[in-house]
Amino acid sequence: MSTEPTKILLSEDELPRQWYNIQADLPSPMPPPVGLDGNPIGPDALAKVFPMNLIEQEVSTERWIDIPEEILGILKLWRPSPLYRARRLESALGTPAKIYYKNEGVSPAGSHKPNTAIAQAWYNREFGIKYLTTETGAGQWGSALAMSCKLIGIECKVFMVRISFDQKPFRKIMMKTWGAECIPSPSPQTAIGRKIFEEMPDTPGSLGIAISEAIEQAVERDDTRYSLGSVLNHVMLHQTIIGLEAKKQFEKIGRYPDIVIGCAGGGSNFAGISFPFLYDKIHGRDVRVIATEPEACPTLTRAPYAYDSGDVAMMTPLLPMHSLGHTFIPPAIHAGGLRYHGMAPLVSHTKQLGLIEATALQQTECYEAALLFAHTEGFIPAPETSHAIAQTIREARQAKEKGKETVILMNWSGHGLMDLQGYDAYMSGKISDYPLPEELLQRSLASLEGHPKVPGC
Ligand SMILES: *Cc1c(COP(=O)(O)O)cnc(C)c1O
Repeated sequence: MSTEPTKILLSEDELPRQWYNIQADLPSPMPPPVGLDGNPIGPDALAKVFPMNLIEQEVSTERWIDIPEEILGILKLWRPSPLYRARRLESALGTPAKIYYKNEGVSPAGSHKPNTAIAQAWYNREFGIKYLTTETGAGQWGSALAMSCKLIGIECKVFMVRISFDQKPFRKIMMKTWGAECIPSPSPQTAIGRKIFEEMPDTPGSLGIAISEAIEQAVERDDTRYSLGSVLNHVMLHQTIIGLEAKKQFEKIGRYPDIVIGCAGGGSNFAGISFPFLYDKIHGRDVRVIATEPEACPTLTRAPYAYDSGDVAMMTPLLPMHSLGHTFIPPAIHAGGLRYHGMAPLVSHTKQLGLIEATALQQTECYEAALLFAHTEGFIPAPETSHAIAQTIREARQAKEKGKETVILMNWSGHGLMDLQGYDAYMSGKISDYPLPEELLQRSLASLEGHPKVPGC
């Protein structure tokens, strides 16, 4: 009998009180955001889009940033989140690997996203902002921000990618329940939305389009700002609470992971679990860190590292990142949260530096992994999370072949209870694999032409 618990828990007193900023420890600094002319963009250029206190975090190189008390108080509603030992999954796989998963599905909105949504709503309110606009794909981010705005006491409006708006009615109702307005994108409310409607009346929408609409409305009003759920440096920062907790939890059981795995859409849950471990890696520790993404949206594995815009109308500055091109309209795979064209500059940079690895997986392997997880550990994962699970299972099988007691940490980024149509489709044999055709990739990459080159690339 092993005495190690199934859930490794921290008390509320052990909640980390600072976020970790990897910008303090990067072996080479990140290239700056630039304009189309290639000149660096100063913080002031972003002042109509984000509040200055978050812009300061965006560019900060301080290693530790204090988490304000009120934010800690709200995070305590579900944090510290449990670290689970997946013994039953290990048994089913017959692996000598020890598998741990950090359960971020315990938040009220069901994923890691409230970790930054609460912080962003708070900093906006402190700056005097009354109203936040945002976009959402599958609805995870929109519901996280809707809840956070309600708890913090400001208003929220969500532009939801049309295909998800039609396919995911329950996420929409969650946003409404938390008092937010949710409208399908493209919408007739914005100039960019009207223009896209004229060109493509049947468009399913995309995150890039919804971001453009949300920014357009934010910059029009002094009391309104825009909020992004992933990609930006301050979002990665807020998510590091996941990995900081995990490190404390591993200390409690006297272990340290050999491999850290997270799925990557815009990169935030992956950064959240892995950056505190990358701190150790940069300082000489041996740990493999793996980001997994869908074959249908292969940003880290097939897209170039280039300067590109975060949205289709190019309202954001150009960011140094792996990008499929800002006009990319992703195939309608079920992991909606992994369908973004770009990857967080910080995650892209750590990939450039060789600190992390990346793999791309097919939908059917991921659903199969999700079902095995549900059949052994009980919890039904989000389709996004299933990519991390599938990679974990690959590593656990490798460990079996090698007869090696590998310790694997995976971020269980969210539950799938609002994504059951995807499960239904998979179990009725209606899900097929879709590696992105090279021709489509090349067509989308053409939108990178004319952008300034990232120095050294
Ligand atoms: C949004 C989401 C993701 C992908 O976003 P990242 O910024 O890459 O973390 C992954 N898992 C879940 C459950 C999500 O809701």
